[in-house]
Amino acid sequence: MITININGKEIKLEKPVTVFEAAKMNGIEIPHFCHHPMLEKWGGCRMCLVEVEKMPRLQTSCTLSVTDGMVVRTESEEISKARKGVLEFLLINHPLDCPYCDKSGECKLQDFTLQYGAAAGRFIEGKRRHPESFDDPLIVRNMERCILCTRCVRMCSGVQGASALTVTSRGTKSFVEPFSGGRYNCEYCGNCLTVCPVGAIMSGLHRHEFRSWFIERDVKTICSYCGVGCGFVIQVRGNKIIRTLPKPEVGINKGILCAKGRFGYGYVESSQRLVSPMIKRNGRLEPATWDEAFALVGRRLKDIREKHGSEAIAGIASARCTNEENYLFQKLLRAGLKTNNIDSIAAGGFGAAQRYIEEVLGQGATANLISGIPKSEGVLVIGGDPTHVNPVLGIQVREAFRRKASVFTIGYTPGLERFRTHHLYPYPFTEGSLLSSMLAELIRLKTALSGENKEFETKAKEYKGLSLQDAESICNIKSSDISSAVNDLNKLASLSVIIGPDIIQRTDAETNIFLITAIAYLLNARIYLLSERPNVQGAIDMGCVPDALPGGRPVEVDTFRKREEELWGCEIPAKPGIGLLEMIEAADSGSLKALYVMGENPVYNLPDSSFVKASLGKLDLIVVQDIFMTETAEIADVVLPALGWSEKDGTYTNLERRIQRLRKAIEKDGMEDWRILSEVGKRLGLKMQYESSTAILNEIANVSPLHAGLTYDELEKGMDLWPYKGEPLRRKTGAGTLKPDQRWTPADKGKLYLGIQRHMFLSGTMSKQSTALNSIFEEPYVYMSPSLAKRHGLSDGADAEIKTVKGSLVMKVKTDKGLSDNIVLLTNNFRDSGG
Ligand code: SF4
Repeated sequence: MITININGKEIKLEKPVTVFEAAKMNGIEIPHFCHHPMLEKWGGCRMCLVEVEKMPRLQTSCTLSVTDGMVVRTESEEISKARKGVLEFLLINHPLDCPYCDKSGECKLQDFTLQYGAAAGRFIEGKRRHPESFDDPLIVRNMERCILCTRCVRMCSGVQGASALTVTSRGTKSFVEPFSGGRYNCEYCGNCLTVCPVGAIMSGLHRHEFRSWFIERDVKTICSYCGVGCGFVIQVRGNKIIRTLPKPEVGINKGILCAKGRFGYGYVESSQRLVSPMIKRNGRLEPATWDEAFALVGRRLKDIREKHGSEAIAGIASARCTNEENYLFQKLLRAGLKTNNIDSIAAGGFGAAQRYIEEVLGQGATANLISGIPKSEGVLVIGGDPTHVNPVLGIQVREAFRRKASVFTIGYTPGLERFRTHHLYPYPFTEGSLLSSMLAELIRLKTALSGENKEFETKAKEYKGLSLQDAESICNIKSSDISSAVNDLNKLASLSVIIGPDIIQRTDAETNIFLITAIAYLLNARIYLLSERPNVQGAIDMGCVPDALPGGRPVEVDTFRKREEELWGCEIPAKPGIGLLEMIEAADSGSLKALYVMGENPVYNLPDSSFVKASLGKLDLIVVQDIFMTETAEIADVVLPALGWSEKDGTYTNLERRIQRLRKAIEKDGMEDWRILSEVGKRLGLKMQYESSTAILNEIANVSPLHAGLTYDELEKGMDLWPYKGEPLRRKTGAGTLKPDQRWTPADKGKLYLGIQRHMFLSGTMSKQSTALNSIFEEPYVYMSPSLAKRHGLSDGADAEIKTVKGSLVMKVKTDKGLSDNIVLLTNNFRDSGG
C-alpha cells in the first residue's frame, strides 16, 4: 500500500497513480484543462499545479506519480496565484464572448475564471484573429477560443485513431486544423468536440439554439443504431432532443461515440415520420383511425386463419424494436395466430453463425465483453470492417494494436489499414479457401488439442483443408504469408476473433462459419459477431425465430412449450415455422396469405428487391408497423405509425448479450410497438393488457428461463450480463449440424466481382432520414482500385454505370488503393441505392 496525504486527508492506494487521480478518487477536484482520463498524459496547461512537500516548485498533478509518504496541497495562496496567472495568459487571446458562445455555462475556462477571479489584462496588443469556420456541415471551429490544450488532437489520434487533426503554425499563431483543411474528411465521431473544454470545437447541429441552462432533462439511454449499444444522455428542451451527449460514466463506450450515435438522432424529427394509421382503399393508402385500423387487422387476420389455416400467416420481427416488443410480437403470432412462422433479419448471418458457434462451444459463446478486445494478445478480423459496421467496437481493435497486440485482417478493412500486423487479402469470395488452408496448417502445427469437444475436434481433423500452395493459387496470397500468419496466431495466449457480416451472409456461409469456428476453437479464442442493428441479439433471445421460444428453448420440446402455454393460457404449435426467405418464397408460390411486419423493411433490405416486392404483392394482407413509410409499408394494406427509440421505454440486448435500458425522452404522434401489438392481440382474443414495458419485462422474466427474475432495477444494479440471473440452455456441445463444403473452385481471375460497402455513416431506414448523416455523405459511390478505374477510363468523381442482370445504377467513382483490381463495391444503405 502507498500512503499519501492530500489536503490533510490520509489516502491509501493499492497501486501507483498520479496525484491528480489519487485526489479524484477521493473526491478532491483539481482544476485542469488538458488532462482527460481517456487521453495520454500531457501536462501542458499547468492548471493542475499543486504543492508537494519537499519539492521546490509547484508540480503538475496530472503527470506526477504518488510516492509513499507524499504530502500534497491542492489549494493555497501560491497555487491560486499560479492558476490565476495561467488564466491570464489564456485570456490574452481567448475572446470574452461568453454572452455569444454556445459553450457558456459549461465552459471550463469560464468556470475557473469565476473561481479564481478575473485578472486585469496587462496586454495592449490585439487578440489573435481567426475567423470562425463554418466550412464543415457538422463541426464548427472557432480557433480564437482555442486554448491549445490539445485534447482534441490527442483524442483523434490516441483514442479514435483517425489522426485527422493537428496543431498547425507556431507560437501564438498556433491553432488546431483538420489535415483536410476547412471541411473535415474524417470519421465524424465528434469525440473532439466532446473533449474540448471551451467553445473552440462545437457541434453545428444546434448552434445558438440553446444555452446549457435551458436543458430541461437529461435522459440516460443507449444508441439506436448498432449492436454495440453505446450509452449517452439525450438532452431535451421542451419536446425536442437538442443533443446526444456521451459521458464517461454512462455506458460501455465510456464517453466516445461514432458519427451515427453523435449526429444521427435527427431522424426522429423527420417530416417523413408516419403520424396516422393508414388503410388501403381503392389501391391507395388513406388515413384512418386507430380503431378502424385495429378492427381491420384483427378481422382480416382471423378470416385468413379460418380460411387458409395458421400456416398461411407469418410475421417479421425487428432488430430495431425492443426486447419487450419482440417478445410480444412472437406471443401475438404463436398464441394469437397459432403459427411459428416468425423470423427477423437477425436470423440470417448473425443468427445462423451464432447457432453453429453455440452448438460447438455452448450457449453464450459469443457473449464476450467488448472491453476484452484491447486486452487480447491478438485480434483476427474477418468478414467486414468493424470500424464501419460497429465503429466503437472497431476502435477497440485499434487500441489493441496500440497496446502491441498482433492484428490479423482478412479482406478489405480500410479502417484498420494502419492498425494491423498481418493483412491477408484473398481474391473476392475465396475467404473459405484461405480459411480452409489456415485450418489445415493450424492442425498441422498443433501437437495436442484441448479435448474439450472431441466430436468437433474429430470433425475439424477429418476436414481435408487446402494445402498452402493450393490456397495461394486460388486466393492469390503467398503461401508464406498464410503460413506466417498461422504461425503467429498459434503463438498467442489470448485471441479475439471478430466476424463480420460479409462472410456469413453468403451462399458459402456454412463453410465459412464452420472454418472460422474451428480456427477459434483450436486457438481458444473469444468470438465477437458484428451486429448492424441495435437489437439483433434481443430479437433472437426473445423467440423471434421459427423454432425457438424466448430464452432459446426449442419450440418442439413439450416441456418448454408447456411453460408458455400455462402462462399464456392457450396452446401453441409445436412444429417449427418457416424462416424469412421461405416466407418470401411462400408468398410468391401463394401458400402464404398474410404477413405482419414490425419495424422491418424486407423489400429494401432483402436481396433482389423486385422479386421480394412482387412476391409480397401477391399476399392477401400485409400489415406494417413502422416509423417511416418504407418501401414495404408502401405496398401494405394497413400501416400503423409506431414510435421510435427516443419515444419509448424498454431494453435492447447488445452484441455482448448485455441487456441495456432505453428510456423515453420525448413524445411523438404514433403508438409504441408494444402497445400496437397489445391492441391487435386483444382483437384476436388474447389477454394482452400491459400498462407499460415494465409489465412486459415482468412477463418475460416469468416465461423465459434465461431472463428469470430480471427487472429494470436489477439491470440498473449491473445484472445486465449474460446469463443474468437466469438459466441458459445447457446442451451437450458437439460437432454441430453444418456441413462444410470442400469443393474449391479457383476464382475466375478475368471476372469483376460486385460487393457492398457498409459505410460507417449509413445503416438503413434511420440514417436515410438523418439530414446530418446525409450532409457528410451526400451521395452513394462505387468504390474501386485506382488501376481498375484507370483501365475503364474513370477517375475519382466520374460517373460510372454498373450493370448487372438485375438492373443498372450510375454512381460516382471513389478510388481506394486498398481494394483489389477485381472487385467493385457499391455503397450499401444509401437513400436511393437499393438495399
Ligand atoms: Fe451507436 Fe454503434 Fe456508433 Fe455506438 S458504435 S454510437 S451504438 S452506432
